[in-house]
Amino acid sequence: MTAETLCVGTEILLGNIVNTNAAYLASQYAKLGITSYYQTVVGDNADRIKECVSMALSRSDLLVISGGLGPTQDDLTKEAVSELLGRKMDVDDTSAKRIKLYFDKRGKKMSKNNIRQAMIPEGARIIDNNNGLAPGVLIELNAKEAAKFGKNAKTAPMILMLPGPPEELTAMWESSVAGILQKYTGQVIYSAMVKICGRTESEVAELLDDLIQSGGEVTVAPYAKTGEVHLRVTASAEDEKSAKKLVKPVIKEIKNRLGNSVYTTDEDTTLEQAVVELLLANGLTVTTAESCTGGLIAGRLINVPGVSEIFKSGYITYSNKAKRKIIGVKRKSLEKYGAVSAQVVKEMAEGVAFFTKSDVAVAVSGIAGPDGGTPEKPVGLVYIAVNVCGQITIKDFHFSGNRAKVRNSAVASALILMRQCILEYYSKLTFGDNDNE
Ligand code: ATP
Ligand code: MG
Repeated sequence: MTAETLCVGTEILLGNIVNTNAAYLASQYAKLGITSYYQTVVGDNADRIKECVSMALSRSDLLVISGGLGPTQDDLTKEAVSELLGRKMDVDDTSAKRIKLYFDKRGKKMSKNNIRQAMIPEGARIIDNNNGLAPGVLIELNAKEAAKFGKNAKTAPMILMLPGPPEELTAMWESSVAGILQKYTGQVIYSAMVKICGRTESEVAELLDDLIQSGGEVTVAPYAKTGEVHLRVTASAEDEKSAKKLVKPVIKEIKNRLGNSVYTTDEDTTLEQAVVELLLANGLTVTTAESCTGGLIAGRLINVPGVSEIFKSGYITYSNKAKRKIIGVKRKSLEKYGAVSAQVVKEMAEGVAFFTKSDVAVAVSGIAGPDGGTPEKPVGLVYIAVNVCGQITIKDFHFSGNRAKVRNSAVASALILMRQCILEYYSKLTFGDNDNE
């Protein structure tokens, strides 16, 4: 099945809102193993909406439209689609009652416009909206309608219209739409997520080239995130058990090839969660000493419930004086090497571990820009030190992008380096033990 997205809203065209619905829908198609080749944005204009709908129906099996289902005059989606198909609009009684009840409960009078939200094209199916007033609408084109778009009864496309507010759209997708679409695809789709850190997208693509390009029954689709690569592994089969059985050996193969850069195969686990779990599992306390990241590393760690057992302190030592007075960096080192240097992050990671009696310390100092770079120390240069029980690893990174991007890249790299250093520390311990045997 191929699907495409049409987001309706002049606000999106003007850049007033970010089109998060398109990204969400794209990720959901991938989860269901539905292929998507197009995304379109169109303003609140009936003729142009019709033009986009026609185009989409001629080339895709499913058109998902977001936005324009509201009560106001610029909400035109349903009307435009009905006109294009030549269907009449009818009031859907259940939806009308729900809307009336909503206003009654609040002691407000329903305006005439609100009834527009309960109007749906003849023969359409309603998708309940538990977070708003406008229901979703699903239309399966009949053979005559399909013919207008170069299709026949067998290849007749579908149109799904969902409200624009993201919380309404996502809730409806999760509670109803995904299930409905699975029935249409006639197959059960099972997908799993493999999350990788410490490798670039191109490295991953190269190592998994045959799996990604296989064109077989299991698809492996990579997505890059700051410092991470996520792989969605999807298979479809007659039932969930068979689909899972197809996915399992592929995940095993990915783990074999990528080793411990795979930090989780759980959909919801984040990088910071994996780091916190590693600290908890080994009973290691942690402290952060941050300069250019200004507390963001501590912030990400503290996002994780249960971190209180192991997180001791987070220092933001931005000025040289703070680095000296609070966490014991030597004046001489600052003068000789500068605040952004391997020596200074080393002393930061030693200092905070010592003062807080933490097992693990991470320290970051860098030039986030846009100003302040020199030929020797350009904007984007970041030093990160990780201290695991006295074993210190220092790395320099050269990030590109604006200030926010450099800082976020530094945060991801610090979490990844912490994870690597802890894993290495324990693998060496085990190695040492074996040596003595
Ligand atoms: P409403 O009843 O709220 O008017 P609607 O279905 O008519 O719902 P729109 O009027 O198109 O939807 O959009 C309502 C709001 O939903 C927008 O102001 C915006 O905040 C959000 N929104 C709409 N489309 C998108 C999108 N593609 N991505 C993210 N947010 C969106
Ligand atoms: Mg609206």
